[in-house]
Amino acid sequence: MSQFWSKIVHTLTPYVPGEQPKLTNLIKLNTNENPYGPSPKALAAMQAQIADTLKLYPDAASTPLLQTIAQHYGVPVDHVFVGNGSDEVLALLFPALLKHDAPLLFPDITYSFYPVYCGLYEINYQTVPLNARFEIDVADYDRPCGGIIFPNPNAPTGVGLPLATIEEFLKRHADCVVVVDEAYIDFGGETAVSLVAQYPNLLVVQTLSKSRSLAGLRVGLAIGQPHLIEALVRVKDSFNSYPLDRVAQAGAVAAFEDVAYFDDTRSKVIATREWFTAELAQLGFETLPSQANFVFTRHPQHAAAELATALRERSIIVRHFKRPERIAQFLRITIGTPEECAALVTALKEILA
Ligand SMILES: *Cc1c(COP(=O)(O)O)cnc(C)c1O
Repeated sequence: MSQFWSKIVHTLTPYVPGEQPKLTNLIKLNTNENPYGPSPKALAAMQAQIADTLKLYPDAASTPLLQTIAQHYGVPVDHVFVGNGSDEVLALLFPALLKHDAPLLFPDITYSFYPVYCGLYEINYQTVPLNARFEIDVADYDRPCGGIIFPNPNAPTGVGLPLATIEEFLKRHADCVVVVDEAYIDFGGETAVSLVAQYPNLLVVQTLSKSRSLAGLRVGLAIGQPHLIEALVRVKDSFNSYPLDRVAQAGAVAAFEDVAYFDDTRSKVIATREWFTAELAQLGFETLPSQANFVFTRHPQHAAAELATALRERSIIVRHFKRPERIAQFLRITIGTPEECAALVTALKEILA
């Protein structure tokens, strides 16, 4: 019955999210979720919203949340935008800021949603290969473009760029918007929010899904100068005025306010990552330096697909990307609790033996 489809639907290649198996007793290290769960204060704030007031629409602009985020980062409130997960923030910013005659640039190995948005919005793009160390090299982007987007740290590699390199991007491309997708920034990278005041072409995107353990709530944000935020608001209000419900707004405010819980859980994830990376090295794995809550690793003697299958037989799920060819021998493994990562090390020892 696809004759009923709009023309563009025939051309789409949608994003495929990581598997969310229904089975229990799995060690699930495939979608970069946080093993520690949300702040108890955020849970309490959300429970308080389950009330008669749900008959009323939420604050369309999420004003208290904008204020909380602005205060947290020390930026004016008109520099902040929020959406239903950072995927929605991205879905709004692609048509708002990245659709121009010259091509949008992003790395060849990166978040696989970017080309999907380009397909939906008919945005012309070019991919720029990572260098031999799987790094984003600013010099490779010296070409005409209508915008640039990359995650920092990059996904699925985990490799981060220093702030000085982000600044180099902003200087070399002063005439187009540079979007830095900081989904994993809280696990060891340097946020570019401090550059927003100085660079009118910078938009920083973040999410509460990873470091604040609220993937199920769907809250993401962007920080940039007001002219960029206005473009996002215009598209948002042409699409959905109420992307964040009352529960999500309250939970997100409380999650930002609970700095102690945030610092405690993210430092646990970082410590586990360092331990786990050393264990992998003992087993002969080569792991890219990660600033994220996952590692990207390969074993010179063992095929990644076979390792992933053998782990699955032991109820441990990790992510394997068949494409592009350059990363086909890597596994992306989310950092779980120390117990989960220890179980994975034990399983790998068995498999390699
Ligand atoms: C997880 C992730 C997102 C999306 O996060 P949500 O806020 O859950 O939609 C965006 N960008 C990158 C690079 C991610 O890994």
